[in-house]
Amino acid sequence: MELVMKNLVFLFVAISIALALSGCANKYAVREDAVDRSVSIIPLPSLLEVKMGELMLQDDLKIVANSSDQEVRQVAEFLAAHLRIVTGFEVPVVDKAPGKCQRLFMDLTTTDSELGVEGYTLTVNEQAIRLSAGAAAGLFYGVQTLMQCLPAAVYADEKQPMTWRIPCVEIRDIPRFRYRGMHLDVCRHFFPIEFIKKYIDLLALHKMNVFHWHLTDDQGWRIEIKKYPELTRVSAFREQTLIGHPGRGAEQYDGVRYGGYYTQDEIKEIVRYAQERFVTIIPEIEMPGHALAALAAYPELSCTGGSFAVGTTWGVFDDVFCAGNDQVFHFMEDVLTEVVGLFPGEYVHIGGDECPKTRWQQCEKCQARIRQEGLKDEHELQSYFIRRMEKFLSSKGKRLIGWDEILEGGLAPQATVMSWRGVDGGIAAAQQGHDVIMTPNSHLYFDHYQADPQSEPLAIGGYTTLKKVYDYEPMPPELSATEQKYILGARANVWTEYIKTSDQVEYMVLPRMCALAEVVWTAKEKKNWPDFQRRLHQEHRKRLDILNYRAAEGSFEVAIMTDYDDDGLVYIDLQSEQYRPAIFYTIDGTEPTSNSIAYQGRFPLQNTTTIRAGIFQQDVLKGRVAAKTVTLHQGLGKMISYLQPFSLRYPGGGDPALLDGLLGSGSFNDGHWQGFHGHDMEVVVDLGRVCRISEISTGFIQNAGSWIFMPLGVDYAVSIDGQAYQSVAALKNDLAALNNEIIIRRFSAPFSALDARYVKVVAQNRGTCPEGHPGAGGKAWLFADEIIIQ
Ligand SMILES: [Zn+2]
Repeated sequence: MELVMKNLVFLFVAISIALALSGCANKYAVREDAVDRSVSIIPLPSLLEVKMGELMLQDDLKIVANSSDQEVRQVAEFLAAHLRIVTGFEVPVVDKAPGKCQRLFMDLTTTDSELGVEGYTLTVNEQAIRLSAGAAAGLFYGVQTLMQCLPAAVYADEKQPMTWRIPCVEIRDIPRFRYRGMHLDVCRHFFPIEFIKKYIDLLALHKMNVFHWHLTDDQGWRIEIKKYPELTRVSAFREQTLIGHPGRGAEQYDGVRYGGYYTQDEIKEIVRYAQERFVTIIPEIEMPGHALAALAAYPELSCTGGSFAVGTTWGVFDDVFCAGNDQVFHFMEDVLTEVVGLFPGEYVHIGGDECPKTRWQQCEKCQARIRQEGLKDEHELQSYFIRRMEKFLSSKGKRLIGWDEILEGGLAPQATVMSWRGVDGGIAAAQQGHDVIMTPNSHLYFDHYQADPQSEPLAIGGYTTLKKVYDYEPMPPELSATEQKYILGARANVWTEYIKTSDQVEYMVLPRMCALAEVVWTAKEKKNWPDFQRRLHQEHRKRLDILNYRAAEGSFEVAIMTDYDDDGLVYIDLQSEQYRPAIFYTIDGTEPTSNSIAYQGRFPLQNTTTIRAGIFQQDVLKGRVAAKTVTLHQGLGKMISYLQPFSLRYPGGGDPALLDGLLGSGSFNDGHWQGFHGHDMEVVVDLGRVCRISEISTGFIQNAGSWIFMPLGVDYAVSIDGQAYQSVAALKNDLAALNNEIIIRRFSAPFSALDARYVKVVAQNRGTCPEGHPGAGGKAWLFADEIIIQ
């Protein structure tokens, strides 16, 4: 799942970090003071009303769980156990409250059928607390919310000398998606079961319900399989581990034997622990690729016979399970039989990603299988492999999930697809009527950097800020209403090549996971970034702290944005993902210090200016200085009409993007580039009145590795009335499409000054990726940043 990342890793070294805080100022426009500030619940409930008054917990508090449902008692005990520790009260769980006492009612008597299995209502008034749901899971999420209505100290592990006040609230809450999860790779680095429990606690705290446990890979096999003891004796350990990134000449290794595995007893314990927190575990057993660790113990399962050693470096390896050998299928079925016996959940993940076909092409057995089964090629052979495993799993009453490569060569009939290479796989699978879980590497890879790589611990690459995660929308706009039903939800991946300790896992997932929780739980229209920042900062970070989780501070990058008023004045807006940061800036070319101008709100700009801005804490610069030149020109902030739409996946800030004075960086997803997928860019700018113009230029970026190409040509035409256009330039591209560099080019056309009100720009998309490109025949992207009209 990391192949694509290799490009990104190095991209980072080459270019200065671009601002990932994307696009238009409107996103930030929701007023922070427009929301109630007395409770800080993450993820934000569907309906939250804070009322006058409060309830103070008394030492005669009893939890009244009048239900024969065993799980209800279990949820009640879960809450009681917490409250006993911090309050020192007895907090008994009873069927009926005897006599006079303070009561917390917990029941399944709701008549609100929309609550489903996971929704709940919570009412706190001055007399009592009432938690109601349609099923125990809903009560459990209600308990999480109730805990977050109490002071953060409720998460402590000893008695707190304080009074426990809850504001009176009325809450009705239903999750947006039914699949809300986190993944953890325990193969590249291994984490003890104490941490796996702590990780599951973190999911529960955020109302997430799926833990995807990546148990086997090239660098280690981590699950005990009784029938194949060599898997834990040999495959669970590697001789040493690569230091730093691969592929930079002389690689260094640490020389330290490394490994570990979970016994079946430990796995049962984890499964039980997760069940008590309404978290389903999806085990992943990788096949047919990422098999090196298994092959080291059982080389006869490969195409060549070996020999092999457990992987010590990262990447994708050619040696995979042989698809022509029936012994491989027997092995897999034996393994899955034990796996299925351990994990009661509905799904088993079989990987299916990054399986090179090199060995299969040269293997007699694999080629014989292709002939016997009438398969077209090795892709269909992979599909044969997956279908055969699906058939086996369904005979055991289980459903198969795989990474989006399982689409290649034909999808197994009931398979669920995890879309990781962007969202296209997910869209294709949903259109074919298959369930989909979104986990695109563009937004949900929590092994990526979350702040300036120069100030962060080494990571695999990428750049995914908290804000970017928060802005992620799992539902692709391309899908019809019927197709959208197949999008079950989303979850983030945590690959651990560069994450060696439990502590570091926490650092990488927090606070990004808090943002993801809101993406998958909270209704889209309820999401509110400034309010999320407030909740995160005011209370939630305290909770994480008390629970002893290590959370990252996040990005200190300042986003330099433009804004306009009705008179055409241009303003500069400085934003960041920090909560109420101290931003200082300059407009005279000097580096900002804490003695520079303090940012107080947007300010007007008269000329083309370079703004430099940084966040300071106690006079010390945090992160690095952001610099952006805002180019003033006649088109700035003017009306633009799109004759062909831009892609909603790369809006670059939406309608104002091409006329905001801001140029894109070498990173196509920096929020300034606007993408056009498979078709031309065709826009008309209305300058509002007739102006004297003498030059038009438009910037484009080429990044062939990401299927983004220069336009074949760019045409400029102008008009006084918007009807009759006069061509002023027809420019041709001369840059080769198969160039591997990242190149930005402006297509500029100076001409003798003339009068015009309308400017039409047509940039010809090459339509498809050219022959010789890995995506040959697939839709090509065209990315533009700014149309400058002088
Ligand atoms: Zn083979």
